[in-house]
Amino acid sequence: MLSDSLKKEIRNNYELITQALPQFKARKAQNYLVAEIAKVLAGNYDKSRRILVAEAGTGIGKSLAYILAGLPVALRANKKLIISTATVTLQEQLITKDLPFFLRHSDYKFTFTLAKGRQRYCCEHKLLNQQTDNPEQTQLFTEKPQVGDRELLDRLKNAYLDGKWDGDQDSWPKPIPRRVWQQIVSDKHSCKKALSNHRQCPFHRARDNINKADVIVVNHALLLADLELGGGVILPEPDASFYVLDEAHHLPKIARDFSSANVNIKTSQEWLKKIKQVSTHVNRVVHRQTTITPGINMLESANEMVKDLNDIELYFRNNPPNYNKSNQYRFSMGEVPQGIVNSLISLKEETKKCLSAVNKLSNITSEELKDDNIKLSDAEPLLVETGFYIQRLEALSDLWKMLLKERSSHQAPIAAWINNENEAYTLCANPLEVGGLLEYMLWSQAAGVILCSATLTSLNSFDYFMRQAGLTQNDGTQYLRLKSPFDYPNIELHVAAMAKDPTESGFDNELIENITQRIEQKEGNLVLFASYWQMNLVADKLRRKFPKSLLVQGETSRTKMIAMHKQNCDQGLTSILFGTGSLAEGLDLPGHYLTNLIITKLPFAVPDSPVEEAHAEWITSKGGNPFMQITIPEASKKLIQSCGRLIRKETDTGKITLLDKRVITKRYGKSLIDSLPPFALKIEK
Ligand code: SF4
Repeated sequence: MLSDSLKKEIRNNYELITQALPQFKARKAQNYLVAEIAKVLAGNYDKSRRILVAEAGTGIGKSLAYILAGLPVALRANKKLIISTATVTLQEQLITKDLPFFLRHSDYKFTFTLAKGRQRYCCEHKLLNQQTDNPEQTQLFTEKPQVGDRELLDRLKNAYLDGKWDGDQDSWPKPIPRRVWQQIVSDKHSCKKALSNHRQCPFHRARDNINKADVIVVNHALLLADLELGGGVILPEPDASFYVLDEAHHLPKIARDFSSANVNIKTSQEWLKKIKQVSTHVNRVVHRQTTITPGINMLESANEMVKDLNDIELYFRNNPPNYNKSNQYRFSMGEVPQGIVNSLISLKEETKKCLSAVNKLSNITSEELKDDNIKLSDAEPLLVETGFYIQRLEALSDLWKMLLKERSSHQAPIAAWINNENEAYTLCANPLEVGGLLEYMLWSQAAGVILCSATLTSLNSFDYFMRQAGLTQNDGTQYLRLKSPFDYPNIELHVAAMAKDPTESGFDNELIENITQRIEQKEGNLVLFASYWQMNLVADKLRRKFPKSLLVQGETSRTKMIAMHKQNCDQGLTSILFGTGSLAEGLDLPGHYLTNLIITKLPFAVPDSPVEEAHAEWITSKGGNPFMQITIPEASKKLIQSCGRLIRKETDTGKITLLDKRVITKRYGKSLIDSLPPFALKIEK
């Protein structure tokens, strides 16, 4: 329970923080959010399930709220506060702005750090002992070395030795090419933390910082990677952590992509054929009888796998399915063709054997190194090599498990398909629902979780998000919806009187005409399209009329395009940004940078990816309606995000125009309008 002294502490710090914020405006919604976060984490509502799903509209100040409430409760309970985000922008804001500000102005003395994956750090040992000409290692790399790489590696090494570079890939002033980075990156299979002179390397220093920090900022993908390993491997243990999942609306999709697996048949056959070199290399260095059996087993399994993969390839060559225009063929209800089932069963078995054999060879090498029977310089390439194969075999194993998973009528099937790029076949699988996985890895394990975002509801309800995230109304989870403090009724939302709807021919011409007329001179304009195709069509027609003002997504980098737009606006010129759905989220154009927002079409996703198709098929098979259950809730969320581009600050004004009349002519239109903020709706006649 939240004690009175803790409440007082939070209130005092709220005073300190808000006094230090220039132009701070007290908001009831923010205070309420702080109180609810503190109560949920302290177990006021449910002692064992401390989960809050909080939709906090733009402008409430949610990051301040969760730091203000989460940190004191975590410190008192002797827990870590792990803040996970979907975007780098928010991570940077937390690490460079919000947390330092809080540290400076609050009563709390705490430490914080940004957790990154191992692959962002260089391996000190590899950096200082580079062997770029080692053929056994370079043949494992996906990109081969080029002229100039040697010089860059020397610069990296010297900067590191002079204390001018900390070994973090992101802190090197320029991007490091992949082929260079792969030579010095820290890799779990060859890592030797146990050696005393390795404990201070960049990767382990970063991991030590995580262990010591009170607040850890992370991204959703790394958080999921830790949880998949059982939690407590990269980040602190789940039961010793309070999690804040900001931008939580991205979590289900990130979790789904995270669990995906795919295997290219040709590439796998190629590396499986090379695997025999592992035993040759091991036997050259390790003179032990114990390597003989795993060496033989590894070879036998690899040969079997090559044959099985060959059979699968032959099957698809002899029985070509009806590929779509993206060269994919989806297996209905996730059921792979009967003709490849036996090969998959055999692959599953042989991959397991092969993996066990390579692991044994790797362990024997490590033991020999530990016992000083072999030199580090001899052991290292072997550990890198075995690590390379272990990783690939694990990826194969994940795919076979998913493809052969027993089906149940209660559980959603997987999405499974084959890709055929000029007879180069890739087998792919993706889970459809990740709610069970999140429950198992996170909700049931964590000391407490706050999920927040500006858009967690669709169609005015948490139902869609709950289904995706595996949460329910009655499982002890708390739900909170706080409206944005912005003055929406002063913003007009126009629904244009279009003769055609986007599904009718003639819409494109009407669109061109309408957009031309609706561009505001000497203002910041943003036009959002549903497809690149349509955007480019309109852009080509408008280019002559607005030669200097039109900035089209994809024609230059996003950063450059936005900088040019802002420059135009600052000079009082007309500026027109053309963008698609990806620009509708995270684009921050406050004040005069955006006053005229035009949305060309309701953002209905076309279920054309195998995963979306499989999801729709599953819902239909259960008697549901995928359009109402997926398409409309998704469109509602996207429409809210699109409209949200206009109002970033309390003083922002302007006008939104929707050029899709279906919002008033179709039955579902009302629910889409009703779930938007309370704009002043103007239906043009
Ligand atoms: S501990 Fe691992 S990552 Fe660090 S220097 Fe040693 S081998 Fe490289």
